[in-house]
Amino acid sequence: MSKIVYSALQPSGKLTIGNYLGSIKNFKKLQDEYECFFNVADLHSITVPQEPKSIRERSLDLIAIFLASGLDPEKSTLFVQSHVSQHASLAWVLNCMSYMGQLSRMTQFKEKSQKSEENLNAGLFTYPVLMAADILLYQTDLVPVGVDQKQHLELARDLAIRFNNKYSQTFTVPEGIIGKETGKIMNLKNPEKKMSKSDPDQNSFILLLDDEETIKRKISKAVTDSMANFDYNDEQKGLKNLINMYIAFSNKTKEEIILKYKNENYSVFKEDLGQLISDSLKDLREKYFEYIKDKQYLEKVMEQGAQKASYIANKTLRKVYKKVGFLPR
Ligand code: AMP
Repeated sequence: MSKIVYSALQPSGKLTIGNYLGSIKNFKKLQDEYECFFNVADLHSITVPQEPKSIRERSLDLIAIFLASGLDPEKSTLFVQSHVSQHASLAWVLNCMSYMGQLSRMTQFKEKSQKSEENLNAGLFTYPVLMAADILLYQTDLVPVGVDQKQHLELARDLAIRFNNKYSQTFTVPEGIIGKETGKIMNLKNPEKKMSKSDPDQNSFILLLDDEETIKRKISKAVTDSMANFDYNDEQKGLKNLINMYIAFSNKTKEEIILKYKNENYSVFKEDLGQLISDSLKDLREKYFEYIKDKQYLEKVMEQGAQKASYIANKTLRKVYKKVGFLPR
């Protein structure tokens, strides 16, 4: 039996190339080898304030982006989290097995709760438990994610092991797939920070659907260092981030890139990188604009995905309910 892969993205704001390189870019390869589930995590997105209209639009966007990136709904299950009620049901059971102490140590909770004091809701606190439920429902073996999800994935593993020990073998214990160069794409203006769609500075990130001119302009403004010419060492965090993007889009090694641009002016390297990123995303961009026009097709894909996901999710949830002691219906 082939291994099971699960990953999700939130419909909260436009995707950056950080999201793309950290997750979506790997999905197409995985679908040829494994049984894949890719999800629009709308339940997760409401842990911070959202416009209802925007959630609806971004959710459709994500399905269109999945398709545009080469995912085939006949091979991969593409679906929306709120269409499969088992996610929230399993999250409740896992909530009752999660320790407050462990959840309060989650870095993302600490960061997000500091950002919005007035929105310090319980969902933000239990977000990682819902994520554990997402993953465990499908008996997932592999989870392709960015570095920022590593701690949450660790919790999913802990909860799977805790449940299995308490009630007998029920869940597969998942492993992460985190790219060495692409697991954490940094902010173009401040390479100490992760590239994030919620950053107020538009020049700090590249959006997946940015046009060629915008991509080139943002790359040309990205920070490198005070040296005029390309002479790389690992402490040059801005340059390292740009090289990581180059590696991801070109499949060249770091050494090849350094050799190619050694002693060149930074502008030469940046011009090539901007062009490379734009060319690499051109096909996805064009296909996205085609898919997003066909709402009927997107709805069909979501419906078919939700049906398949529900069937499998329900098998796991039924087992869990039985082991916990809930009476069968
Ligand atoms: P989100 O929608 O914020 O949950 O993120 C979706 C996926 O993108 C997750 O797998 C994240 O780990 C990944 N991701 C987000 N930002 C970055 C980044 N700057 N670099 C690499 N991966 C990222």
